[in-house]
Amino acid sequence: MIVGIDLGTTHSLIAIPNEEGGATLVPNVFGDFLTPSVVSLDCDDSVLVGQPAHDRLITHPDRSISCFKRDMGTDRKYRLDIGRIFRPEELSALILKSLKADAEHFLGQAVEEAVISVPAYFSDAQRKATRVAGELAGLRVSRLINEPSAAALAYGLHKNMDEATFLVFDLGGGTFDVSILEMFDGVMEVRATAGNNRLGGEDFLEIILRDFHEQLANQGVELSNLHLQDLSRLRALAEFSKIKLSNESAVETPVVIGNREVILAYNRPRFEEQSRRLMRLLRDPLERAIKDARLPVDELSDVVLVGGATRMPMIPTFAAHIFRRFPKSDINPDQAIALGTAIQAGLKMKHKAYRERVMTDVAPYTLGIQVCDFLTPNDVDKRVFSPIIDRNTPVPVSRTETYSTMYLGQDQVKISVYQGESRSVNKNLFLGEILMPVPKNMDEPEPIEVRFSYNVDGILEVEAKSLSSGEMRSLVVEKSPGTLSKEQIKKSLRDLEALKIHPRDQVVNRTLLSRGERMFEQCIGKDRKRVNEAISRYRAALASQDSGLIDQIRKEVIRVFDEIDAFKPI
Ligand code: ADP
Ligand code: MG
Repeated sequence: MIVGIDLGTTHSLIAIPNEEGGATLVPNVFGDFLTPSVVSLDCDDSVLVGQPAHDRLITHPDRSISCFKRDMGTDRKYRLDIGRIFRPEELSALILKSLKADAEHFLGQAVEEAVISVPAYFSDAQRKATRVAGELAGLRVSRLINEPSAAALAYGLHKNMDEATFLVFDLGGGTFDVSILEMFDGVMEVRATAGNNRLGGEDFLEIILRDFHEQLANQGVELSNLHLQDLSRLRALAEFSKIKLSNESAVETPVVIGNREVILAYNRPRFEEQSRRLMRLLRDPLERAIKDARLPVDELSDVVLVGGATRMPMIPTFAAHIFRRFPKSDINPDQAIALGTAIQAGLKMKHKAYRERVMTDVAPYTLGIQVCDFLTPNDVDKRVFSPIIDRNTPVPVSRTETYSTMYLGQDQVKISVYQGESRSVNKNLFLGEILMPVPKNMDEPEPIEVRFSYNVDGILEVEAKSLSSGEMRSLVVEKSPGTLSKEQIKKSLRDLEALKIHPRDQVVNRTLLSRGERMFEQCIGKDRKRVNEAISRYRAALASQDSGLIDQIRKEVIRVFDEIDAFKPI
């Protein structure tokens, strides 16, 4: 069985291909499809993943980590309390492990292979880090699929359309992706992608947070005295307000900050006013994708909204304004990508229900090498970018260009590989280089052929060949900054193996306690007392080890928590 995984900044989901040629979402241990992408270290140093870790962001911010997807492909290290250090791919691996366990539980069989989605704009290093995360979780990553392509796949199937061009507008927690896809005779082709991998729902949350800080300052709260816990409580309140404002026009919440109760208020018009700068940032990738696809806006069959942040009413309004039509969101915007990854997994398994469909993808960046431009014989611009594979070329693709030596008698050439869109290599990303001997020729320049092959997983192979000697050198862009070596992966596997993961059968209890602890911190007065009593009763029931009693008290405790959380869910 190959599973499909949406490894999101905020939430992750796992799904499996089904007999009908569609996909089925797999619930986690709490019966939810969305698992928060959060990892926390419990007091006994065992690892908690998902909802309990998310609650602990508030109660134990120094032992809990979220949003690490943004650092995939970098050397960033996270310290979780007592010196245990994690890399972003290790944290991602813990999420993947937890999803894998959910699927194994659901299927009653081992799961060893997965298709994982990545933002279309993920660089080579970020893609490799995602593969490594899979490997660390004990999963063979048979394919990485761009998130919008996955959403389109889910959407295309759902609509059962034969011929259509649509634009996928995906605003998640940390990334914004735009893709234009064309479906024709069951073949889906990505015509263009663009995006911003530093723009998402989190940035909208920052806007609210900034306003809250101002409100606190105006009410005389000394911001520099706030504890880490106050700050995470404020952040949780901003997140809560943001989500609430998607359905209501104003929110007002009392909150205890720095031992004082203050009221923080916010409303939709103010939110929309303060979000103008972010809304402008959405424009650029949209325009770029439309231009690259060479497609008049009117010819799009549909505009599809994906990602939780598209639930903010200003997003569909903005999209309707730009595209002069109402965007679609028939599939739950949180689930479309996961469903698509599982459909891709079904395609990969050559399941007969999927036989009819093929999916092609595109190179997200332009790839090329550094060349020299002789402006005059004495004035040479040595930092010019010569594109070999243009962005948005369907993959897999192989392209060859011929270059020549700069000087007569030159006996070697250096081929420096870059990705990016600028004419000057200084502004593009360096990926690696090849040194290559060429026959010393005093009469004329020596020709060198450079071949670039880019595969469906976004891995680039470069081959250089001297046409007169036949000598070849090649490079698989492997050592991008921020990726792990084979030895490091082995070590990391051992380290993760040694971690205590919270036992699945106890997760439900642990999570309810985490939730109780969070609510205790968030509430005051009568509610706080009720939460406290519920926690005590639950602890006593757990201590009795009487499973009938535990089940009964658990239900009661959940009822109490739900009541209080519904009124004051900070
Ligand atoms: P990712 O793919 O990055 O994990 P998701 O698609 O799960 O992201 O979207 C998560 C983002 O959507 C978060 O920033 C979250 O706050 C936001 N979000 C989820 N539901 C809503 C809602 N109802 N209103 C506004 N924002 C929402
Ligand atoms: Mg997403």
